[in-house]
Amino acid sequence: MLFEGKVAIVTGGSRGIGRAIVQALAGEGARVAFTYAQNKALADEVANGDTVIGFQADVTKFDQAKDIVKQVKERFGRIDILVNNAGITRDKLIAMMSEKDWDDVIDTNLKGAFNITKPVVGAMLRQRSGTILNITSISGIVGMAGQANYSSSKAGMIGFTKALAKELAKANITVNALALGFVETDMTAVLNGEYRTKALAQIPLGRFGKAEEMAQVALFMLSPTASYMTGQVLQVDGGLAM
Ligand code: NAP
Repeated sequence: MLFEGKVAIVTGGSRGIGRAIVQALAGEGARVAFTYAQNKALADEVANGDTVIGFQADVTKFDQAKDIVKQVKERFGRIDILVNNAGITRDKLIAMMSEKDWDDVIDTNLKGAFNITKPVVGAMLRQRSGTILNITSISGIVGMAGQANYSSSKAGMIGFTKALAKELAKANITVNALALGFVETDMTAVLNGEYRTKALAQIPLGRFGKAEEMAQVALFMLSPTASYMTGQVLQVDGGLAM
């Protein structure tokens, strides 16, 4: 098994892409701790109480993120993999966007990544090994109308990825980003009618991606196969933003 003996933390693992990544890592032998915000019932479907554990924690709160990392170290003894996946949208045109819409998205998607990465890096530096994967979006590369907050947060994650990759390479810690297009999850379930038809028309592969397909790419990026890869942003978007 590809991840036998490895310990992973995945933020936002109760649903969607995070859930698929948790299940793929666990299927390859990793012990996985995942976080979720509110939905305990969904988290309980993913956890097994032994090698896959769910923690209710708000990634926007530094102390909660730090505490989760402490608990994972106590329970599993090490941390080899971090996937910064938890994310939200609050789409509005800038004229309609409230300060709260802006803050919520930046706090969850960008500051949330900082909050959990900082304590995880502490553990990885002591081990002198680790792999971090940041789930970003093509919205952070090309910009999307109605997503000034989200595009900014996801572009920020790309800068975060590259800065950390340079900072941590000497300690044998790799940091990469996976930039996704449209993926079938709760996040995109709200996109209906004309918007969905227009989006589909722009995707060369003619469909939204599946969470399981994204998880397979994440597995590759987290695996020893990708050990010489750092500071990279891999686009998996059906050809949308080529
Ligand atoms: P999703 O189905 O809406 O799931 C979001 C997950 O994040 C849930 O587990 C949720 O927990 C958790 N979460 C939200 N806020 C949190 C917080 N403050 N603290 C801790 N956990 C929190 O999302 P998704 O579509 O799978 O997206 C996953 C990632 O991929 C996000 O970063 C997103 O920006 C990115 N992405 C998605 C798409 C897409 O088309 N779906 C495209 C590009 C990039 P609860 O269940 O408890 O709410």
